Amino acid sequence: MISPVSAQDLFIKQAQIIQPDQAQVSQPQDVVIREGKIVAIGKNLQAMRRKSDRQIDARGQFLIPGLIDTHVHLDGVPGYVGKRPEDAGMLQEARLQMPRSYAYFGFTTVLDLTGDPSFIAQWNAQPAGPQAYFCAPVTIPNGYPASWMDKDLQFQVEGTKYMLFDPAQPTVYPANFKPEAHTPQAVVAAAKRDGASCIKVFYETGFGAKKNLPVPSQELIQAVVAHAKKLQLPVYLHGNSQAAYEFALKTGVTTLVHGMWHETKQVDADLNQQRLQAMAQELAAAGISIQPTIQVLYGEQEAMNPDFFKNPQVTHAIPQQLAGWYQSDAGQWMNKLLAEELVGATISPAERYQAFKKMYAKPLNTVRQMTQQLQKNGAKLLFGSDTPSGPFYTQFPGVNGRWEMDRWLETGISLPQLLRAMTIENARALGREKLLGSVEKGKQADLLLLQQNPLNSVTAYDSITQVILRGKAHDRASLSAH
Ligand SMILES: [Zn+2]
Repeated sequence: MISPVSAQDLFIKQAQIIQPDQAQVSQPQDVVIREGKIVAIGKNLQAMRRKSDRQIDARGQFLIPGLIDTHVHLDGVPGYVGKRPEDAGMLQEARLQMPRSYAYFGFTTVLDLTGDPSFIAQWNAQPAGPQAYFCAPVTIPNGYPASWMDKDLQFQVEGTKYMLFDPAQPTVYPANFKPEAHTPQAVVAAAKRDGASCIKVFYETGFGAKKNLPVPSQELIQAVVAHAKKLQLPVYLHGNSQAAYEFALKTGVTTLVHGMWHETKQVDADLNQQRLQAMAQELAAAGISIQPTIQVLYGEQEAMNPDFFKNPQVTHAIPQQLAGWYQSDAGQWMNKLLAEELVGATISPAERYQAFKKMYAKPLNTVRQMTQQLQKNGAKLLFGSDTPSGPFYTQFPGVNGRWEMDRWLETGISLPQLLRAMTIENARALGREKLLGSVEKGKQADLLLLQQNPLNSVTAYDSITQVILRGKAHDRASLSAH
């Protein structure tokens, strides 16, 4: 799995080290890196320095572990659909830049929640980008996300190998579909064999034009969870509604991969608030972790922001040619669709943005409140950005994770907690805390050097100077799309 692509021997001189679990800054220390691993950390290791080592003078700087995002989707270029030959060069440039954009914003490890093994192997062979792990998507026919495909195609794509035989829909399968190869036990075993780090399941009744989709039964997902536990695979559940949260409690999944922004409708609002508070306690007690993914909603809202491309952070993430296309008629397809559907086509861009802000205020408020409730009750929050959650260029690799940090802080989460969540806690979620998540001897050298202290301000993450990926140091500027 680990590909120490062109590892380099490094000598980092006099860095102030921050261990996420301790949230303190060390005295200046030297760090020796050989073949992609940290081999020594100490006060004065000059004697260990070899002539061939690249020396990085880190005096006055802060050294932290690389950041881990446990909710991304690596396939495709955000917001692009179709295959126009004249776009081939632009897309090629975008695909080369996307791993670099993750790295530019400090992400050295990512978890693709709907990955497949061959794509992930290709991704990990790229020279500069985060190392990827993947979850196997365990779906049911005509449900989310299989329903986004053609009725027949859903049984043909690569991901179908983890599709369940759903006893509630016994007649929808094609003749060559072998139910015995699609039991909970069989799909979980297949995922494990393929090198998946986790199982992803879905509880989604739909949105937009696709509503009232079938969802898997409690029994079916309980069986998936039971088999996954035996093989030490965590189970991630897609769900952003109160019903999905109840489903998580009943099935005992490991992690809910979205914040909760759809409350149950047509119930007494006060009683519902009581239920939400109780639910936060129950999730904490059950040890179910939650990814707030507030940037999902925020990013949809910001798609209507007429000044989006003026943000300098955007220019570091999105290649210029692609940014130009996004602003063209063709690239605005999703915005037009949404705007026409939701607010009408006739109003000006500025009015449209205001209308969207108004529309998103309620679900944003709900997800922020629920995140605070979870936090207050001691539930574990996991850092995942859901990059991209849909065809939105506003959720572009790297920068979207940076913005999710802002969303966390807006709910009152502290900087030390944010750093822990993005490093050691996500390493634990991946089951790779022996390898990742802190600055320790023996660990993989995925590290960041920052000019500012990330325990003092979130803008410290904008002051990264070096991104060290499996022992190879990259000047941050060299990873920019600009
Ligand atoms: Zn997602």
